[in-house]
Amino acid sequence: MKIIIIGAGPGGYETAVEAAKRGIEVVLVAGGPLGGTCLNEGCIPTKTFCHYAELIEGMSRAEALGITAAPAFDFAKVAERKDAVVVQLREGIGQLLKNKLITVVEGKASLKGAQTVVVDGVEYSGDKIIIATGSVSASLSIPGADLPGVITSKEILELTDVPKRLIVIGGGVIGLEFASIFKSFGSDVTVLEYAPTILPRFDTDLAKRLKLALGKRGIKIETAAQVTGIAKAGGGLAVSYVAKTGEASVEGDLVLMAVGRRPNLESLNIADLGIEFTRRGIVVDENLQTNVPGIYAIGDIVGGMMLAHAATFHGLRALNHICGVSDSIDFGIIPAAVFTMPEAACVGMTEDEAKAAGIAVKCLKSQFRANGKAVSMDDTEGFCKIVVREEDGALLGCHLFGPHSADIIQEVAALLTRHATLSDLQSIIHAHPTLGEVIQSAAHI
Ligand code: NAD
Repeated sequence: MKIIIIGAGPGGYETAVEAAKRGIEVVLVAGGPLGGTCLNEGCIPTKTFCHYAELIEGMSRAEALGITAAPAFDFAKVAERKDAVVVQLREGIGQLLKNKLITVVEGKASLKGAQTVVVDGVEYSGDKIIIATGSVSASLSIPGADLPGVITSKEILELTDVPKRLIVIGGGVIGLEFASIFKSFGSDVTVLEYAPTILPRFDTDLAKRLKLALGKRGIKIETAAQVTGIAKAGGGLAVSYVAKTGEASVEGDLVLMAVGRRPNLESLNIADLGIEFTRRGIVVDENLQTNVPGIYAIGDIVGGMMLAHAATFHGLRALNHICGVSDSIDFGIIPAAVFTMPEAACVGMTEDEAKAAGIAVKCLKSQFRANGKAVSMDDTEGFCKIVVREEDGALLGCHLFGPHSADIIQEVAALLTRHATLSDLQSIIHAHPTLGEVIQSAAHI
């Protein structure tokens, strides 16, 4: 068996490694650096910045906690370390692929048939093809969207200076993470969000509380703001928008466009092969197979939740299908996190989604301010909300907002995957004192 995988992000390269472990011959076509968007211009460099932002915020509170220090912030060094982290991890992937005897072909692949791809004029054939080419930043068709100084999440990670004034268009995951980071780095930050709330796809209580917390840190957030154009103004840029109160405008030095991402279909030639796709991405069945038998598509390219871990598990399902192995992966249970300060994380249904589906639910809530570890850490902003089905106590979802939420949510993801009930959760002994006890406190309300 031979598989050709197009794209070397967390979907493509992890699937390549897993396939090689199963004795399958793999050709991995890398259209960009190994590790894809996640490693090179997404999750990893952003989280490295987040770590610095946390250090800065911690130091700003240190004096009140009895530590006197005079912190100095050297952005060049921060950027240097961010790049070093990326290089270290990318070299690790290269070594892993080498160890597994995976053939890596650099270049953009184009499909020539159900079993053939072409890269720089050279044909490669395999029994199956997996497309994992990811996504690219979307933009708005408004005047001035292509002006210098209007940047994407890729370019903001390449800055050599911290902007004095940063305007973020889009109060989704990317927009809020960079708003939070650059506020800590010293920028004056304004977020313009089209929807009535930030993080429109998240739990409404969580979105409200996060907006308040970011506001307390001095980040200006305008929701229900329809951006109409960007123009040069003085030495910077002015973004015009229609707000609840009428027409308005805000000036900044840089504008981050963070209004979502679109599937990267570049050079694939999928239309000629008759592969079905929509504006959201390539259409696949529950095994991630396209309408052309033997061609699979995984990760951001199929739309939905554009998350690295979703891509990896899509790849695992596709591979299992190719190998005739069944699995119990549940794509309805994908935890998601927002690395703002405080962090937010969720898994499963929101209260609103359950109600819209006609499910009677009760919501159990606990607060980080009642958690001993959070109080010792002087990091008490946040809450935990668990959504439980009234009828039988089944756990349906969890929405967290507070320190280390992204780590804490894993427990509930595990429980949801095993179809646990509230009473199952209540009987799990949690270590004390830990932040994870917020889950148990909510369960015992
Ligand atoms: P998103 O969909 O999370 O947010 C885009 C936001 O832009 C939405 O709130 C939307 O209402 C808003 N918007 C759309 N048009 C607008 C307009 N004209 N004016 C103002 N606001 C407008 O998309 P994103 O933040 O760009 O992230 C892209 C993808 O990457 C998402 O799927 C996200 O989950 C993923 N991602 C995940 C992480 C993580 O796991 N921590 C981090 C970054 C990105």
